[in-house]
Amino acid sequence: MPASHLNDELNIIDDLAHARPAVTTVEDNPWRILVVDDDPEVHNATAFALQDIRIDGRPLSFVHAYSADEALAAINADDDIAVVLLDVVMEHESAGLDLVRKVRHDLGRNAMRIILRTGQPGYAPEMRVIREYDINDYKTKSELTRVRLLTTLTTAVRSYDQLRTIMNARRGLALIVDTAADLLSRRDPGDFAAAALASACRLVGNADSGFLCARRQNFPNFPGEPPLFVIGACGTFADQLGRPLADCGAAGAFAATAYGERRKSFVDGGNAAFFIAGENNRDAVLYLKTASPLSESERQLLEVFCVNIGVGLENAGLISDLSFSAFTDRLTRLSNRSGFVARIDEHLRSGSRGWTVALLDIDHFSELNDALGHHKGDQLLLSVTQRLCAMLSPEMVLARVAGDVFGLLGPDAALDPRRLLDQFKLPFLVDEYSLPVKATLGLTRLDEVADSDGIDLLKATNIALNRAKSGDRGRWHYYTEDMARETRTRLDRLHELRIAVTQQRGLELHYQPQVELSGGRLVGAEALIRWRGADGEFIRPDLFISLAEYSGLIVDLGAWVFHTAVRQLRDWDAKGLSGVRMAINVSLVQFRDPLFLSRVRSAFAETGISPARIELEITESVAMLEAETVIGILTELKQMGIQIAIDDFGTGFSSLAYLHRLPIDRIKIDRAFIRDLDSKRGSGASIAQTVIGLGRSLGLSIIAEGVETEAQAQVLMDLGCPLAQGFYYSRPVDADSFLAWAQARA
Ligand code: C2E
Ligand code: CA
Ligand code: CA
Repeated sequence: MPASHLNDELNIIDDLAHARPAVTTVEDNPWRILVVDDDPEVHNATAFALQDIRIDGRPLSFVHAYSADEALAAINADDDIAVVLLDVVMEHESAGLDLVRKVRHDLGRNAMRIILRTGQPGYAPEMRVIREYDINDYKTKSELTRVRLLTTLTTAVRSYDQLRTIMNARRGLALIVDTAADLLSRRDPGDFAAAALASACRLVGNADSGFLCARRQNFPNFPGEPPLFVIGACGTFADQLGRPLADCGAAGAFAATAYGERRKSFVDGGNAAFFIAGENNRDAVLYLKTASPLSESERQLLEVFCVNIGVGLENAGLISDLSFSAFTDRLTRLSNRSGFVARIDEHLRSGSRGWTVALLDIDHFSELNDALGHHKGDQLLLSVTQRLCAMLSPEMVLARVAGDVFGLLGPDAALDPRRLLDQFKLPFLVDEYSLPVKATLGLTRLDEVADSDGIDLLKATNIALNRAKSGDRGRWHYYTEDMARETRTRLDRLHELRIAVTQQRGLELHYQPQVELSGGRLVGAEALIRWRGADGEFIRPDLFISLAEYSGLIVDLGAWVFHTAVRQLRDWDAKGLSGVRMAINVSLVQFRDPLFLSRVRSAFAETGISPARIELEITESVAMLEAETVIGILTELKQMGIQIAIDDFGTGFSSLAYLHRLPIDRIKIDRAFIRDLDSKRGSGASIAQTVIGLGRSLGLSIIAEGVETEAQAQVLMDLGCPLAQGFYYSRPVDADSFLAWAQARA
C-alpha cells in the first residue's frame, strides 16, 4: 500500500476521533463500523455494499484500517466503534486473531462486536476461540453477499447497542451505589444539592450544567412568592444559586413544566428535567443540560438516581429543620439563646475587635402579657423585633434569648445604649393599643473580657442586666470584672448561709421593744435575725434575707426563727417578764411552704405559748401578691388566734379595697415616713396622719417603726398613734439585754 494512501486513511481516523461534533442528534449519530483488511478492494466493496444503509434509523460511518496496528490505533482513538469487520489473515496468518485477543483481553473493549471474514475456507478459528473472544460471526468473504452482510451487521449493531446500554446502566448503578452513602450523609441541604448535582452530571457523562430546585424550608412563605428556589447549581447556572426558578429562563420554564404539570421526568433534545417526589412539601426538580439527548437508558438511570436525591433531600431537610428549631426562635424567627451563643462564638473566632454583646429586657413584659393576653404579647414582641431589626446593619445579630429578652451583637458604637433605648421613645402599636414600653440593658464590651466564650459572655451580660434591673428601671449597665467578683461573693455567701442554716451555726435573734407611746409601757418585741459570718462580724439581714428567699433557704431559716422566738417568750415568762407579745417577720416564700401551718402549730404545742401572743409581720408587697394564697393562709392563722401586721406600710401600692379583704390587726408605718416627721415641711406628717386615719376607719391598730427622737414620738402621739418602736426606746438587742432593759424600765 502506498504511504500516502495509508496517511490519508489515518487522517480520516484522526479526523473522526477528534472532530466529533459537540452536539449530535439522533439523526446524524451514525453507527461506527471499522473495516480491517489489507486488501483495499475489500474496503471499497464493503462501503459500496452498505452505502445509504440505516440501522434503526441511524446511518453508518466507516473507519478504515489496512493492518492490525492501524486497526488497534483506530480502536484506541474511538470508544464508540460498534462493529469491526475483520480480515483474519493479514500480515501473517494469525494477525486478525491476535488483534481480537488484544482488543478483548488487554483493552477490555467488550461491547464492540466482531465479525471475522476470510478469503478462503479452512482458516476458520476453532469454536473455543470464537467463544473465548466473543466473536459474533465468522464468514468467508464469498459467503457475505450484500444481504447477508447487512443482516449480520444489523444483528451485531443491535447487540452492541444493548451491551452498551447494559454496561452503562451497570456503571451508572455502581456509581449510584458508590455515591449513595456519601450523599445520604450530607446534612446541609445546600451541600447535599451540590453533591447530588455533581453525581447526576457524572452519571450521564455529557452534562455539565444543571440545577436542583426545591421549596425554601424554614422560611416564612410570603403570599405571591415563587415556590421554587435553586438550591444547587453548576456550570452555566452556577450563579443562579439561591434564586427563584423563574429566573432561570427557558431552562427554568422547562423544569417548571416537569415539576408543575407533568410531575415526572421529561426529556427534549438537550433538556432533561426530573421530578423528585418528597414528603412534607419537599418535592424538587432536577434539570440537566446535555450535549446530546439522553438515551432511554440514561433517563431510566437518572430516575433511579432521583429516588436517592429525594431521600437525601428529605434527610438533609429534616436535619436542617432540627438544627433550625434548635437554633431559632419560632415566634420571631430570630436566633434563640443557643443560636445567639453560636453567633457570638463565631464572632470571637473571627478575631475582630471593638464589638459589644447586649441583652435588652422589656420592662414589665409579663404584666403586659397577662393584661393583654398572649396573642397581643406576641405581637408586641414582633413589633419590638421589627424596630430593633430596622436599626441594625446586616452583619450584626439580633436574637431572642428568653421570653422578653433580646440579644444583640454588633460594633460598640452601633450598640450604644442610648441609641438602643431611643427605640423605645415612641409607643408600640399592637392592634388598637398604643403601648408605651420601656427596656433595660446589660452590655459587655468584648474587648474588656479576656478568654471568654459565648456562654460566659451571655452570663456576664446577664449579670450586668440584673444590675441594671435592680437599680432604676429603664437604664443600662456595662459589665465589669467587679460585678463578677460581687456575684462570686454572693455565691460564696449563699454557700456559707446554707451551712449556717442547716447546722444552725452563727444565727441568733435580737429583740427590739414595742411600747405604748403614751406612758411608754412595754407591750411587745420584734424578733430580728442576726447572722455572724465566718469572720465573726454581723452580716446585715438586708444582705442575706433576699439571698435566703432567692435560694429557698428562708423556709428553714424562718421555721428556726419562729421556734426560737416562741421559745424565747416561754423563757422570759419563766424569768418574770410575762405578757409581752412577739412580732415575727415572715416572707412570701414561707407562705408557699405547704408545711408552714403545721410548723407554726407544732411550735405552740411544744412550748404551750398562746398563739394570741404572736404577731406575724408581712410586708405590704407580700400582702399584695398571690391574693388567694395569702388570704387563705392568713385566715387560718387568724383562726388559730395569731395576729397579723402589715410591715413597711406606705411603701407599696396596696389598694384600700384589697387591704379591707385581708384579715389584719395592725398597720406598721414605714420608718421612711417617721424620719420625715422632724421637718415640718416633709410629707411624712401628712402620710402618717393619713395612715393613722385609715387604720382607725378600718378598725386597725397602728404602730410606728423607726422612732429615733423624742420629737418624732411627740408628733405621733399628737396624731393619735398608739404604739411605737425604734432606737429612741432601744436598738434591737440580745434576749438577756432585752430582759435587763425591760426590768430596768419596770
Ligand atoms: P424590718 O422588718 O422593717 O425591721 C426593722 C428594721 O429597722 C431592723 O433592721 C431594725 O434594726 C431597724 N430599726 C429599728 N429601729 C430603727 C430606728 O429607730 N432607726 C433605724 N434607722 N432603723 C431602725 P434589721 O434588723 O437590719 O432588719 C432588716 C430587715 O430584715 C427587716 O426589716 C426585715 O425585713 C428583715 N428581717 C429581719 N429579721 C427577719 C426574719 O427573721 N425573717 C424575715 N423574713 N425577715 C427578717
Ligand atoms: Ca418587721
Ligand atoms: Ca419595717
